[in-house]
Amino acid sequence: MEHWTPVFVGLGSNLDQPVRQIQAAFVALSQLEQCRLLARSPLFRSAPMGPQDQPWYVNAVAGLLTRLDPHRLLDELQALEHSFGRSRARERWGPRTLDLDLLLFGRQVIDDARLVIPHPGLTERNFVVYPLLRIAPDLTLPDGRRLASIRDQLRSDGLEEIMSTELSGDRPT
Ligand code: ATP
Ligand code: CA
Ligand code: CA
Ligand code: CA
Repeated sequence: MEHWTPVFVGLGSNLDQPVRQIQAAFVALSQLEQCRLLARSPLFRSAPMGPQDQPWYVNAVAGLLTRLDPHRLLDELQALEHSFGRSRARERWGPRTLDLDLLLFGRQVIDDARLVIPHPGLTERNFVVYPLLRIAPDLTLPDGRRLASIRDQLRSDGLEEIMSTELSGDRPT
């Protein structure tokens, strides 16, 4: 079968040199089987959600094409988190070396015990919406809402673009 689905993955890290973790995660995503990495957003720095006694996060969004089904892709993303040294036992929204959230899977809507798509935090989190818009400015959600309209309702507090990581290579500054 030759069916490729466009998907977006949110990346986050706030431990062990987060910028390098995110850059390495982009490389790992580009090497996933049955997937092709099409776009990498710039990196953003964001204030932590939940527990405040932890370092700031670095966030980004990746755009891929995949031939995997959604749960199989989640398996792959969780295996990657594990290979980046993410420990399982931890508090909710506590510090981590790598968090990979499956934000959108084509126009599918999924709500089961393992997987909720669109990711429930997507439209509320500036550190997801801003980088996602950088690689998909015309994106509409499965419910038909434009991501750009959602961005207009969101404050950019605590969010700062820190680095451009275009797939075509680093741009001169
Ligand atoms: P949040 O989901 O609010 O960003 P988190 O990323 O810290 O919080 P995790 O501990 O990484 O949460 O994931 C908890 C569980 O969420 C996972 O075991 C996974 O089964 C489930 N999950 C549900 N929907 C998704 C999704 N779209 N992407 C990734 N994980 C998901
Ligand atoms: Ca989280
Ligand atoms: Ca998350
Ligand atoms: Ca997660």
